[in-house]
Amino acid sequence: MHQVTVLGATGSIGKSTLDVIARHPEQYQVYALTCHSDIDTLIAQAKICQPKHLVVAQSALYDSLKQQASSANLQCEIHAGPQALCDVASADDVTQVMAAIVGAAGLLPSFAAVKAGKQVLLANKEALVMSGELFIRAAADNNATILPIDSEHNAIFQCLPTSYRYADLKGAGISKILLTGSGGPFRDCPIEQLQNKTPEQACAHPNWSMGRKISVDSATMMNKGLEFIEACWLFGVKPADIDVVIHPQSVIHSMVQYKDGSVLAQMGNPDMRTPIAHAMAYPERIESGVAALDFAALTDFSFFRPDFARFPNLKLAIDAAAQAQFASTALNAANEVAVEAFLQGHIRFTDIADINRATLDLANEQSLTCIDSVIEYDGQIRRLALQAVKGAA
Ligand code: NAD
Ligand code: MG
Repeated sequence: MHQVTVLGATGSIGKSTLDVIARHPEQYQVYALTCHSDIDTLIAQAKICQPKHLVVAQSALYDSLKQQASSANLQCEIHAGPQALCDVASADDVTQVMAAIVGAAGLLPSFAAVKAGKQVLLANKEALVMSGELFIRAAADNNATILPIDSEHNAIFQCLPTSYRYADLKGAGISKILLTGSGGPFRDCPIEQLQNKTPEQACAHPNWSMGRKISVDSATMMNKGLEFIEACWLFGVKPADIDVVIHPQSVIHSMVQYKDGSVLAQMGNPDMRTPIAHAMAYPERIESGVAALDFAALTDFSFFRPDFARFPNLKLAIDAAAQAQFASTALNAANEVAVEAFLQGHIRFTDIADINRATLDLANEQSLTCIDSVIEYDGQIRRLALQAVKGAA
């Protein structure tokens, strides 16, 4: 029986995770659920899955959560604040941690799970982008397993030979990783119209229903850029080993090309419960609730090269992946600030890439040798990005 902590339970990935868990009560017990501030959703979830612990990251909400849990007759311990997130991610009883907090806020709890040697189901790509080698090394040093939840990385993982999954892909005869992406909601819109796109339009993804930050990242293709960096770290490959392929239907979730010409693809309906169920049960298979793919109903199956003029953020990320860690950390921090400013209506859609580029140009090269230095650097870059936002607003 797995004891599972779901970090970011109230978000899109968190909800899909609880949906999969509810289908297998004999295999998974929820140890802890966490949220940022949506305590109504957290309580509703707790009534169903009866966790041992509830955590709200916003310390000021401790009393409200305590009161609501008591009114709902929940038999669980209540905690608040960032340290509590790390505690429930690393507690002795926990065997599996779903790392599904969005953004840099997920770094410390995800890292705590890795340091405690847990099986870490990693959705929080920003944590890996920010800390790359430190994160992967901590996993190796502490016997933690990282199983990718991002649908592309989960697909790649499934297409790799079992014995080579985290190292020496060349030795396994692999010539390329083909990272697919839909191109988001603005793939075909005239480039000159991009500057007028609203947060609502950016968040209306054609194939996936996701949180607002990743939805904007999908519209700018920064999401694919972050995934590019994520893939370099997860699979121990260089930027030259990865090609990005636009595949608007999101049926193929990514591919691995071998030197004999074979290409293996993982396919399925675009529903995150498939990669979640795969990682939760690995190496077994369990029902996820996702309908089987109906090939006869697929009307089109198309592929394109990405257009960097339309998606400058993707180019920024690919370039950052070729540099030392600081570049990816800086890009992630600038992007989080810019996306938030866009979602708040302070800047235009096209300002996001301009702010990211301007911030990277000002970022000092720095060697990031511990998680504290990563957090400190992330803060420095956020201050630079906020100035750039003020300039654009
Ligand atoms: P979301 O916005 O729907 O949910 C985010 C969760 O994180 C919520 O539970 C929220 O309460 C919590 N959270 C936010 N800020 C926090 C903070 N400061 N401290 C503690 N908790 C905080 O996001 P999502 O779409 O579920 O994405 C979560 C992560 O998974 C992201 O890193 C995203 O890139 C990744 N991911 C998502 C999808 C998807 O389909 N949604 C696919 C692949 C990867
Ligand atoms: Mg993805």
